[in-house]
Amino acid sequence: MSSMTTTIVQLAYLAASLLFILGLAAMNRTETARRGVRLAEAGMLLAVVGTLLHHDIVEYQWIAIAVVIGAAIGTAMALYIPTVKMPERIALSHAFGGLAVALVGVAELLRHGAALDELALTAVGLEVFLGAITFTGSLVAFGKLQGMLPGRPIVWPLQTAGNLLGVVAAAALIAWLVAAPASSPPPAVTIGLVVLALGAILGVTLVVPVGGADMPVVICLLNAYAGLAASATGFALGNNVLIICGALDGGSGVILGVMMSRAMNRSFRDVLFGASKAGAAAPTKAQTSTSLAAAAAVATLDDAADVLRGASSVIIVPGYGMAVSQAQHAVRDLAAALAANGATVRYAIHPVAGRMPGHMNVLLAEANVPYDQLHDLDDINDDFEATDVALVIGANDVVNPAARTSPSSPIYGMPVLAVEKARATIVFKRSFDPGFAGVENELFTLPSTMMVLGDAKKSLAGLVGQLRGADEARKAA
Ligand code: NDP
Repeated sequence: MSSMTTTIVQLAYLAASLLFILGLAAMNRTETARRGVRLAEAGMLLAVVGTLLHHDIVEYQWIAIAVVIGAAIGTAMALYIPTVKMPERIALSHAFGGLAVALVGVAELLRHGAALDELALTAVGLEVFLGAITFTGSLVAFGKLQGMLPGRPIVWPLQTAGNLLGVVAAAALIAWLVAAPASSPPPAVTIGLVVLALGAILGVTLVVPVGGADMPVVICLLNAYAGLAASATGFALGNNVLIICGALDGGSGVILGVMMSRAMNRSFRDVLFGASKAGAAAPTKAQTSTSLAAAAAVATLDDAADVLRGASSVIIVPGYGMAVSQAQHAVRDLAAALAANGATVRYAIHPVAGRMPGHMNVLLAEANVPYDQLHDLDDINDDFEATDVALVIGANDVVNPAARTSPSSPIYGMPVLAVEKARATIVFKRSFDPGFAGVENELFTLPSTMMVLGDAKKSLAGLVGQLRGADEARKAA
């Protein structure tokens, strides 16, 4: 490669890295998040163009075929996978990323074997190991989110010890890969394949024991593994942009994982080593639904409209059901109708509401809900006591009082929104079934709770119609 091309490639990598950092910073705030995504996209384009100029590329036709196939799959995924399935899509992307990284590592061992220097061999070993963990771990997370695998923790004796042993064994194998002379058997690629197999097994054994309620942390962790594996690939290939953006990805994944663990009062270390917090066995769906239904107050839209007409302060708590029902626009319309009636309306956003970090914020932003009406759990939780009505829209685990009151509950200790402290709570969902964590919710049977059963979007549209109708009738009179 001429020195001119080398300079252009390195400058493209530098600019790409800067754009990634600026993009990440902009994504910190909802108002600038779109700009952040554009900056990161521009960075990725520069990184790809820089890589295409690389001297190691001998023929372009295979790359062109891969670009066409990859772009077709990526475009179809972006266009056709609904936002509600975003976490599953992210899990699959991590899985493919991990597989790609692991395969690049194996290819490096096949091409150069132990002739690589010590730094490169260490990086290749880590890359193969982390890539394999990310691959199978993300597939298990995908299966759990998709309901193809049980969401509850699957546990067995000496699980954490076994996982730790696996990590130590992988570290020993990587040390052997680095230390063994190039000519000695077994060949480097054989050791690499054993590391690959060990990583693939650990990906499963680390994620399978994690229960549904801890899934968000696992997803952040897998994000971190994918990033660290990419960074290791950068060291192995001598590619600066991979080192930098992999480290950014890995670092932000770990930080987000720690923050999510704190938000759920979980030990990050336990989730890291696949130690489960199974707690008491959750009742089956059928048992839960029947016993709760008998004790709950089921309300009509008329009842709900009556309560809301008299409310001067309302807090809306969205959850995964709002995403399923795509009710965010109806929620915004309801908030507007309540505001027109003189009520102050705010939104309480639980850090793990929905199925991915920021899920609710994204949906409400799509419906143009003003950012200043959204409040984090810590900022708003004390305000429920002085609130007339809490509206729970398809949320369940994040408003389950058992997290505070029932030490035997699998979600005990997780901070939850104290909706039951409002003067009245109206819950919009289709049935009495439990949420993602599979835990029954006594909120539904409290005297101050009204259950409006049905699809959230339809119920809210009906309610908005009633409130607006009354408003118009009042104006006409
Ligand atoms: P939950 O999963 O606890 O509850 C969602 C509720 O929505 C269900 O009980 C369901 O009840 C209801 N629902 C589903 N479809 C509709 C519909 N069309 N209309 C009305 N209601 C509907 O959600 P939460 O947001 O409260 O809690 C999130 C859970 O997901 C937590 O346990 C969290 O740990 C976990 N999680 C979070 C991730 C994240 O990063 N945020 C990632 C992975 C998991 P019904 O069927 O009766 O309608």
